[in-house]
Amino acid sequence: MLAGMSRQRIFINGIVQGVGFRPFVHSLATCLGLRGFVVNDTTGVLVEVEGSSAEIAHFVERLQTKAPRLAVVESIRSEPIATTGEQGFAILASFHSDTQHLALISPDIATCVDCLREMFDSADRRYLYPFTNCTNCGPRFTIIRDIPYDRPFTTMAGFEMCHDCAQEYNDSGNRRFHAQPICCPACGPRLRLTDRDRISQSGDPVRTAAKLLRDGCVVAVKGLGGYHLAAIANNESAVAKLRSRKHREEKPFAIMVADEAMARRLAEFGHSEQNTLASARGPIVLLRRRDDAPIARSAAPGNRFLGLMVPYTPLHHLLCSELAEPFVLTSGNVSDEPIAYADDDAFERLSPIADYFLTHDRPINMRAEDSVVRMFRERSMPIRRSRGYAPEPLRLPWKSPRLILGCGAELKSSFCLVKNDYAFMSHHIGDLENFETLSAYIKGIAHFQRLFDVTPEIVAHDLHPEYLSTKYASEMRGVELIGVQHHHAHLASCLADNGEQGPVIGAAFDGLGYGTDGTMWGGEFLVADLLGFERVGSFEAVAMPGGTAAIKQPWRMAAAYLARLFPQGLRGEFGVVRRNRRQWEAVTQLARAQLNSPLTSSVGRLFDAVAAILGIRDVINYEGQAAIELEQRAAPEESSAYQPSIESGPLWMVRSTEIIEAVLEDMSAAVPIEIIAARLHNTLAALIATVCEAIRAQRGLTAVALSGGVFQNDFLLTRTVCKLEQRGFRVLTHRQVPTNDGGISLGQAAVAAAHARQGR
Ligand code: ZN
Ligand code: ZN
Ligand code: FE
Repeated sequence: MLAGMSRQRIFINGIVQGVGFRPFVHSLATCLGLRGFVVNDTTGVLVEVEGSSAEIAHFVERLQTKAPRLAVVESIRSEPIATTGEQGFAILASFHSDTQHLALISPDIATCVDCLREMFDSADRRYLYPFTNCTNCGPRFTIIRDIPYDRPFTTMAGFEMCHDCAQEYNDSGNRRFHAQPICCPACGPRLRLTDRDRISQSGDPVRTAAKLLRDGCVVAVKGLGGYHLAAIANNESAVAKLRSRKHREEKPFAIMVADEAMARRLAEFGHSEQNTLASARGPIVLLRRRDDAPIARSAAPGNRFLGLMVPYTPLHHLLCSELAEPFVLTSGNVSDEPIAYADDDAFERLSPIADYFLTHDRPINMRAEDSVVRMFRERSMPIRRSRGYAPEPLRLPWKSPRLILGCGAELKSSFCLVKNDYAFMSHHIGDLENFETLSAYIKGIAHFQRLFDVTPEIVAHDLHPEYLSTKYASEMRGVELIGVQHHHAHLASCLADNGEQGPVIGAAFDGLGYGTDGTMWGGEFLVADLLGFERVGSFEAVAMPGGTAAIKQPWRMAAAYLARLFPQGLRGEFGVVRRNRRQWEAVTQLARAQLNSPLTSSVGRLFDAVAAILGIRDVINYEGQAAIELEQRAAPEESSAYQPSIESGPLWMVRSTEIIEAVLEDMSAAVPIEIIAARLHNTLAALIATVCEAIRAQRGLTAVALSGGVFQNDFLLTRTVCKLEQRGFRVLTHRQVPTNDGGISLGQAAVAAAHARQGR
C-alpha cells in the first residue's frame, strides 16, 4: 500500500438519480486523480474512492458544492475501508442489493438551456424536435410506471433507442448518459395535429396549430401531466368561446408567455417572481396585472393578478416561438373534473371544447396539473403544489417509527405518505366530489405506495364523516386509524412545512372544517403542537341557512347575519335584500329556526356575508370567489379598522355580528366600498394580533402559525404578519405546501407521525 493512500465508501442520499449525478461524480473523481467507482443503489448513490486523504476531502466537499443543477444532496455519509489498489474510475451499472429501497424520484423538470440551444440549432440532429431532453431536464414523475427509474419502467419503454441515442445514453461523458427518456426524431415520440375526429392535418403540426390559434380556434395541447386547452389571450371571441365550452364562467385562466420580456408587458414583478417564473419547476406564478395588459377581458375578469407561466417543455417553446404572443393555457377538463391525460379519454371529453388537438404518442402515466404559486416576502407560497414539485419529499423534524398515510380533506385534495423523516405529498388531485376524481385519488395512492415502498400502518383522516377521503380511510383494514381535526391539521401542516413541532398559537381561518363539537369551524384560535390542540378562541357561530347552499350563495350568509343583528325584523333598506327578495324571507326563517342550518364560526363565510352586503357578489361560481373579489376591491392605503368586541371566557369569542353592524353603518354613511373592504381586512388582522396577545399573556407562547384557505388572501396575510411582528411574535406561514386544504394531508400525516413517535 502506498503511504498516505486511503479508501472511503461514501453514501449519498437525496435526489441523485436521473439528474446526471454519476457522470458528475465520474468527472470530479477523474479530475482529482482518484480511483474507484460510482453506482446507483436503492437508496441513492454509492461511491468508493481511493487516493490521498487531502484529495478525498476535496472530493467530498465538492460533492455538495458542485452538484448538478437538479440534484438535491440531502446527506453524505462516509466510512474508511481497506484500499484495493484499483486503477481508473468506473461508473457501474445499477445494482439493487438491499430490500429496503427508498430512491427519491425527481419531479418533471423544465427544458434546460443546453437542450434549448440544440433545439434551435439548425445543424443539430434534434433541431426543432419537441421531445428533446437530457439528464438535467424533461419528464420524470409523469412517465414513471414503476421503480427503479429505468427506461423499461417508464412510458418510453415502447420506443427503441436508435444507434445515436444509444451511444449518448451509454457514454459517461455525454450529458445524456443514462437519461431514461432520451430520444430523437429518428427514434422518439412524434407530434401530430388532428381535428376532433382524430384525422391528421397536413403540414408542420406546430406551425399549423399556431395558425389555427391565430384564426381564433381552441387547440388542445398534450403536455407533461395532461392535456391543456389553448387560445390566443388577446382574442376575446376565442377566449370567451373556450370559457363557455368549458363551463368555466369566471375563474381566471393561466397564460403562457414566451419569456420574461413578454411577461413584463402583462404584469409587474420583481426578482424573486422572475426567478420562480423561470425556475426548473415551471409553475404558474400569480403576478400583479398591468392595467394596459393586452389580453382579452374574459381571460381573467375582475382580477388584479394574472397567472403566468413560461414554456416548460420543448413543445411549448416551439409553440411560443411560432406564436410570439401570449396564449391562454388552461387544464383540459370540463368544469371540476380532473385534467384529461389519456388520449382516448381526452378526445372524448375535450372534443366539445377543442377544435383541434396537438398530440403525440408518448403516454402519460400519472396526471399532474400545473402548480400555482404566489410570492410572499420574496418567498414562494404554493397555492397548488403539483407538477414540478411532487413527488419531491418534505422533511419531518424527526423519523417516524411507523409508515403513515394522510388522506387529506375534500376540496383541493392531496394525500401524503410518511416513511422515516420523509413526507411524500402527492400532486394536486382535485375536489373529491365525483367518481373521476375519487378514482384518480385511489390510483394515485396505490402508485405512491409502490414507488416509495410504503404500506401504511397508520392512516390519518379528517373528522368530517361525509368526506370521501374519510370514507376511504374507514374502509381500510388492518391499519390504525387516527382522526385529525381539520384546523389542527392546517396548523400541523404549517408547523411541518417550517420543520417545527410547536407548541404555537395558531390562527386557522378557512371556509369550513368539521369541529369536535359537531359544528362547522373556520375562525379558530388554537394552542397546538403536532400531538394535539386546545381550542382557545373562535368567532361567534352563526347559522349557514340551507347548509351547502350557503357556500354557493353568499347572500344567504348575509341573511343569516342580518337575522341575528335584527331579531325583531330588518330596519332599513338593503340592496342585498332587494336583489334576493324572492327567497329572502324563507332563508331568514331557516336561519332563525336553525333548520337545515348548521352553525359555523367560519371567517370565509364572514367574507361571503360582507361581499353580498356590499353588492360585490351574491352567488359564486368557483370556490372562494366572493372573498377573492372582496380582496381585489380593498383600498391598499386605508389603515383604519372596526372594533368588534372580543369576549373572554372559556374561549376568546370574537363578536363577528358587530363587524357586520359596522359595515352597515359605513354603508349608510356612503363610505366607498373600497374603504369598507379594506377596513374588514384591517379588522381581522388587528383582532388576530389582539387575541394572540391575550393568549400569549396566559400561556407564554410567542410563536404564531397562520394557516387555512383565508390566508391565501395577500392583503390580509401581509397586514396580519406585520401586526404580529410589531407586537413581537415570531410568525410561521406556509412556504412549501398550500395554506388551503391542499396542505391538509401533510398536517394529518405529521400528527400521526408525532403520535407514533410518542407511543414508541
Ligand atoms: Zn436538457
Ligand atoms: Zn434516437
Ligand atoms: Fe380548510
